[in-house]
Amino acid sequence: MDIEKVANLIVKKFPRDHKIKDPFYVLITTVLSQRSKDENTEVAAKNLFAKFKNSKELSKVKPEDIYELIKPAGLYRQKAKRIIEIAKTVEEKYKGKVPNTLNELLKLPGVGRKTANIVLYVSFNKEALAVDTHVHRISNRLGWVKTKTPEETEFALMKLLPQKLWGPINASMVEFGKKVCKPVKPDCKNCPIYKYCKWEGKK
Ligand code: SF4
Repeated sequence: MDIEKVANLIVKKFPRDHKIKDPFYVLITTVLSQRSKDENTEVAAKNLFAKFKNSKELSKVKPEDIYELIKPAGLYRQKAKRIIEIAKTVEEKYKGKVPNTLNELLKLPGVGRKTANIVLYVSFNKEALAVDTHVHRISNRLGWVKTKTPEETEFALMKLLPQKLWGPINASMVEFGKKVCKPVKPDCKNCPIYKYCKWEGKK
């Protein structure tokens, strides 16, 4: 199986554009998106950034000041605390500028490899491979990797895919995972890469 060919096919069939590339916006939106549907994340982000434009403004508020704004994204208490901690750190430690390296991004409160890699690719145009549950599940189903955690998948995929695909594969696999290769009952009958899939459970 030509993994690069199949990855290109996924990117082509399931394109996903990141309209806003501002690093602080991307960072906070990724926090909001955890366990949230796209449409709910969008509403929460819109509400939040309509009122507080940047890390400076958000670093001065209390979590309860933003509860209502981000409620549509769910887990709002936890997310509000996290967002304000990040805003404070960006202000105090990085003079209002989100850092552009993996090591520094990982030092921000609650920021893991997935979020850091999304920011690196979307905002700083760096080759970074973000692995979430969709990328992890699909890569294993396809038979590209045999891994137990998203982090293991990230390192395995970096060896299998050319760097130019590291960034785009995340968003496209997320789309593919939501529309076709869903966690439960994947729509294998309509899957454009059916013949390349090694999953025993495929229908
Ligand atoms: Fe996913 Fe089914 Fe397509 Fe395999 S055939 S990639 S399990 S949707």
